[in-house]
Amino acid sequence: MPSKYTLAIHGGAGTILRAEMTAEKEEAHRKALLDALRIGEAILREGGKALDAVEAAVRSLEDCEFFNAGKGAVFTNDGQHEMDASIMCGKTRAAGAAAMVQGVKNPIALARRVMEASDHVLLCGPGARQFAREQGLEEAPPEYFFSEFRHQQWQVAKARGIIQLDHSKKYSTVGAVACDHHGHVAAATSTGGLTNKKYGRVGDSPIIGAGTYANDLTCAVSCTGDGEYFLRGVIAYDLSCLIEYKGMGLIEAAEFVIQQKQLALGGEGGLIAVDTKGNIALPFNSEGMYRAWVREGEEAGVAIYRL
Ligand code: ASP
Repeated sequence: MPSKYTLAIHGGAGTILRAEMTAEKEEAHRKALLDALRIGEAILREGGKALDAVEAAVRSLEDCEFFNAGKGAVFTNDGQHEMDASIMCGKTRAAGAAAMVQGVKNPIALARRVMEASDHVLLCGPGARQFAREQGLEEAPPEYFFSEFRHQQWQVAKARGIIQLDHSKKYSTVGAVACDHHGHVAAATSTGGLTNKKYGRVGDSPIIGAGTYANDLTCAVSCTGDGEYFLRGVIAYDLSCLIEYKGMGLIEAAEFVIQQKQLALGGEGGLIAVDTKGNIALPFNSEGMYRAWVREGEEAGVAIYRL
């Protein structure tokens, strides 16, 4: 009996103030999320792999300038775009990631190549770009990643001398988790990191176990929020461990890591997770989290604020 497929995606958590959100902006974000969800779902509906579905959904979000990943990634202190991404297969527990990458159009495609075509898990900086080039991945010039909105955020952050998660604590990292008909799960996360970041700062998104994790025995997870806290809490793996070692259910374990563990550390954010039993968890301790989800045979959902 094939498993029912599930897919969830996020476009970041944080202080998404209703006052700052126009009806048009909200509609445009919802549409971008649903478009990405449909792209991933089409793969699952045809019996495709969870791994392909999460990569395709994240690529679509990377190509949309609303989100802080790929096109529209935030600016570093010296005016660059340094991107981080990771992907993991729950069936084999193979993983691939890239950090501090410049000029690669879809960092998630690079993470997938690291997983499948290198002997490594994490490649970084110019070496990662060289590998991308050798793999024939599409490159893009700095203008491609530019967005006026992120540029303004960067100017404000620079003037104030702060490193920001995003304007007024919005984390627009993107991610996807899925379970396919074969009962395999996968997770993917991609980000530009923090506005005005320097010194080669890397967050949780490309770190397996912190921002991304997948294991068929437990769940697939993609996180968004205050990266330093997700690193310290090893949040994605911690969620998997609560299921594996403590026998907790997905929803209960996901709520625990975000509402108790993360909050106790002082970290803001959320995560998306699925297991192989059809469960979908979307907890966040911030004002909102851009998210969309679908379970086979059910209507897709899309939301920004608490329901
Ligand atoms: N977690 C990401 C980072 O710290 C930020 C985000 O979720 O938007 O790099």
